[in-house]
Amino acid sequence: MLRPAKPDNESERLAALRATRLLDTPREQAFDDLVKLATSVSGTAMGAVTLVDEDRQWFKARQGFDLMETPREESFCAHAILEPQRLMLVEDTLQDTRFAGHPAVTGELGVRFYAGIPLLDGDGMALGSLCVFDSRPGTLSEAQADALRALARQAAHLIELRGATRALDRHMRDRDWYEQQLAQYSDLLEQQNADLAEQTRTDPLTGLPNRRAFTVALGAAIERADREGLPLSVALLDLDHFKTINDVNGHAEGDRVLAEVATLLKSHFAAAGMAARYGGEEFAVLMPDTALDQARLQCEFLRQGIAVLPVGIVVSGSLGVAQYRPGETAGEAIARADEALYRAKRGGRDRVEAAD
Ligand code: GH3
Ligand code: MG
Ligand code: MG
Repeated sequence: MLRPAKPDNESERLAALRATRLLDTPREQAFDDLVKLATSVSGTAMGAVTLVDEDRQWFKARQGFDLMETPREESFCAHAILEPQRLMLVEDTLQDTRFAGHPAVTGELGVRFYAGIPLLDGDGMALGSLCVFDSRPGTLSEAQADALRALARQAAHLIELRGATRALDRHMRDRDWYEQQLAQYSDLLEQQNADLAEQTRTDPLTGLPNRRAFTVALGAAIERADREGLPLSVALLDLDHFKTINDVNGHAEGDRVLAEVATLLKSHFAAAGMAARYGGEEFAVLMPDTALDQARLQCEFLRQGIAVLPVGIVVSGSLGVAQYRPGETAGEAIARADEALYRAKRGGRDRVEAAD
């Protein structure tokens, strides 16, 4: 028996074979069918699609025998792939020195006839073969040989196709992954946008809405008051002698007072209305569905609440309150509240004044 030589391009050939990922995969009808056709056209009892691996030949499809694989050195196909372009024909193994004493010949299979066509990939690498064999000697007509060559080309196409399908699968998975990343990224951006939007509406020291947010809310409240004919009041609160509070206690203490006043305002307007930080030590208040008398009362509560804030510093505030007059602008309503505030300051501070 002559051991099959290794092709010159063996390492590239093996790499190409491994790349097909066909080794040790389950049986597939498409390959079985090709073997069935091959044995049928050649009139043999046995046939196979074999892949010639480093040390073994592995059968992707087989008919008429029951082996999964055999050692490479006992492989007929390992001889066939040495001439990739040719059909290897052995009409009678007993007459061929290469196969005398060969286990497949002397053993249970008792192979006498063999024909194998190398399966070439797109780069011309011989991955294995489509072969037919029988326990009786035989030969092939030209037509049979042509038919076998055609079937071998089909088998090779099938292998290529599987590779392309796998590449496509991978491509789709990659695309899914990218899409997922993109979706996560866009969620993140949305979140950051929401955070930014929140930041542009909120005063960082007190956590209250800022002047811009107040202006927007006041515009909406005026629209609603106009539409529904409901009363609406606004008030401005300015802390008294705050400069002195800072000067005496330090700026940090001043900040703490501002934060405490903000907490009081938040709890006071948690259910209805809105309080905002309007400027340095100035706050604005929006009181929907509230007429002047009621608004004035609320401001009085606030004034008292500020006076008893447990901050360890004597704090007071002055407030000016105005009821929105239908037809006037938001700026005009605020200006009237500011005039009232000015009067409260002039009148001695720590008091509430209402606009006419
Ligand atoms: P008035 O009773 O007339 O309102 O007197 P006032 O001292 O409160 O008024 P003035 O406008 O002279 O001073 C306001 C002070 O508020 C000056 C400024 O340093 C202080 N202030 C403004 N914003 C902040 C702040 O964020 N933190 C602190 N600690 N102080 C602030
Ligand atoms: Mg002020
Ligand atoms: Mg002040």
